[in-house]
Amino acid sequence: MARFRLLLLPGDGIGPEVMAETARVIAWFADRRGIDFDIAEDLVGGAAYDVHGTPLADATMAAAQAADAVLLGAVGGPKYDRLDFSVKPERGLLRLRKEMDLYANLRPAQCFAALADFSSLKRELVAGLDLVIVRELTSGIYFGEPRGIRTEGNQRVGINTQRYTEAEIARVARSAFGLARQRNNRVCSMEKANVMESGILWREVVQEVHDRDFPDVALSHMYADAGAMQLVRAPKQFDVIVTDNLFGDLLSDEAAMLTGSLGMLPSASLGAPSASGRPRALYEPVHGSAPDIAGQGKANPCACILSFAMALRYSFDLGDEADRLEAAVEAALDAGVRTPDLMQSAGGAPATTAGMGDAILAALEDGR
Ligand code: NAD
Repeated sequence: MARFRLLLLPGDGIGPEVMAETARVIAWFADRRGIDFDIAEDLVGGAAYDVHGTPLADATMAAAQAADAVLLGAVGGPKYDRLDFSVKPERGLLRLRKEMDLYANLRPAQCFAALADFSSLKRELVAGLDLVIVRELTSGIYFGEPRGIRTEGNQRVGINTQRYTEAEIARVARSAFGLARQRNNRVCSMEKANVMESGILWREVVQEVHDRDFPDVALSHMYADAGAMQLVRAPKQFDVIVTDNLFGDLLSDEAAMLTGSLGMLPSASLGAPSASGRPRALYEPVHGSAPDIAGQGKANPCACILSFAMALRYSFDLGDEADRLEAAVEAALDAGVRTPDLMQSAGGAPATTAGMGDAILAALEDGR
């Protein structure tokens, strides 16, 4: 079996707490499933600043570039709020994203039946939901030139430019089609081709990439505003949604609310292939360092553990093992194990971070 190089960056606040549980899960897959991980751990964010005076040391950056997958906990916290912008914890994360050229951001919206009541939608609309939004992350209107605020005549004008090259569209489309092949083989591409030229090009290029290289994947196109409506009307119709930076920003937050709790949401960012041929990849929970609960054993480790499941599926091609881990998380939830963030009303004692880890490990053992 291949050897998978995994770099763990626990970071700050609850980051080390949720990463500790994830490390136990990783150890289980190494011991019980014989997966050969080469695991390194390093500092990022405030933790790195405290030691190195920078939120990401060059050696850590090099280790990230050499890894098959990087798993990050969270960065930031009040202790670092007064630091200069250039050394703030978040700069460590931004440097990783930039230098690894992570252009495809994957945000799954997966709704475990036991948590369906956390959704803002009716249970039957979301129970069993499993979709992924692939958002282009490095181009589009947040980066396009010209931009700025200037004065024209007697008034100020705010300007941003939506700009996409064919190559930028094609590479994120390829990521989406590749993912679909590892899932249910369907892609819906969203843009505004009815009113934006960049949308017309987006639609054409996605279709070309499909016809040339991924004809086996079912492709549909939808205007992004209609897509926003469909996401709340009938979200289970989607498998993989691919869209640009701006629409992806909005649609992925909308999709997150379909599932409810921040403590359950994993994410991945994929880039160009590294020397191994696998895409460079950073996996991380959507949540931050949660300073309000850090150090109290209250953090829900599921988002970090599910981020590792994404690494199994998308970086290591171990979809069956990812299914196994997701099923174990589901089994723990079905058994009623709840960290405080998953308790809607009084009833039962909450599980600690380690307690949730124990329950997931027990479910993994049971499922062997
Ligand atoms: P946050 O996600 O850290 O917390 C928001 C709320 O959700 C808090 O009440 C927190 O207790 C709760 N929460 C978050 N994760 C949880 C978990 N796993 N289990 C249980 N409850 C959880 O967002 P914030 O409070 O806006 O930011 C706190 C710090 O995190 C800031 O310094 C911010 O810059 C940083 N941040 C980092 C990232 C990242 O590392 N990717 C993302 C967002 C925010």
